[in-house]
Amino acid sequence: MAQTTAIPYERIANVRQTPLEEFYASGHRTCQGCESALVMRQFAKAAGPRTIATGCTGCMYVANTSYMTTPWVVPWMHTQLGAGGSSAIGTAAGLRALMRKGKIPQEKINVINFSGDLGGGDMGLSGISGALQSDYDLLIILYDNESAANTDIQASGLTTYGAHTTFTPPGTVHRIMQRRWKKNVAGMLAVGHPTCRYVATASTVYPPLDFMNKVRKALATGGPTFIHTFDPCPKGWDYHPQYTQEIGELGVKCGIFPVYEIVDGVVSYTYDPRKKGRIPVRDYLAKQGRFAHLVDEDIEYIQNRVDAMWEEWEIPGVAPLKSGLTVGVPASGA
Ligand code: SF4
Ligand code: MG
Repeated sequence: MAQTTAIPYERIANVRQTPLEEFYASGHRTCQGCESALVMRQFAKAAGPRTIATGCTGCMYVANTSYMTTPWVVPWMHTQLGAGGSSAIGTAAGLRALMRKGKIPQEKINVINFSGDLGGGDMGLSGISGALQSDYDLLIILYDNESAANTDIQASGLTTYGAHTTFTPPGTVHRIMQRRWKKNVAGMLAVGHPTCRYVATASTVYPPLDFMNKVRKALATGGPTFIHTFDPCPKGWDYHPQYTQEIGELGVKCGIFPVYEIVDGVVSYTYDPRKKGRIPVRDYLAKQGRFAHLVDEDIEYIQNRVDAMWEEWEIPGVAPLKSGLTVGVPASGA
């Protein structure tokens, strides 16, 4: 079944057109300079009052629902770590059943789940995959602060190579303990889920307004949709909170976090760092204490991999696959 009721998609062209109403208001207890809190605020603002949010265990659960307080103005439900996809499907299915039975009016109600990089990109990946194979209207937002920040900054599958986390402290024998390259969640979900017509990556700070417009576009597209956000975290990334916006912008401009959208299989870059010249990844890494132990060869390694992503991938930043297909019978004739 397609989405129940189309909602108008109004692009926010400039800051003056940003809705004034807040649906994620004051009263939360996130750290000063928390980018993930901005993800919450902006998606709620972009989606508007006819929205139900579900959120996995993580920073945006714990810090937003301290005892008897909450910043959520729209209905919000906590769900288990890793259960973001199933909570979104269950909520959307419930709404559909209630509307079919005539118990609530037929209308578009946005169902949005937010899951962290551990809860969504690692533990909850199968549930999100299931949600993206459904025919329900739902949006999954993977808010990525590159660690399990809520429980004191443990590495996840989305932590940048080389980062100092409590699971990967640099030592005298091994300088680099975080040796895994960041998992490409958005690309993986985009290529593997034909029912999902809209996949995007985004930063709340750069390009300005881009994230809110992507939320609106996802909701207007309907069906299952997915957005992966890039969330600098002063506590986990070890920098002064005043630099959150700057670090987000540097991450996009150096190309380590590509921002794009894929609509019905067509990729477009909302900021293409190749056009203006990518800035060195060193500029981004040097601002963060979690990379203070890196030496020149480590930074060169990261730069080379980012270069390869933009210069050698079949679809830069999205899909690294290269066609090695040979047609016909192998030369051996076997
Ligand atoms: Fe935000 Fe990081 Fe603080 Fe969590 S630890 S509330 S993600 S700044
Ligand atoms: Mg996290």
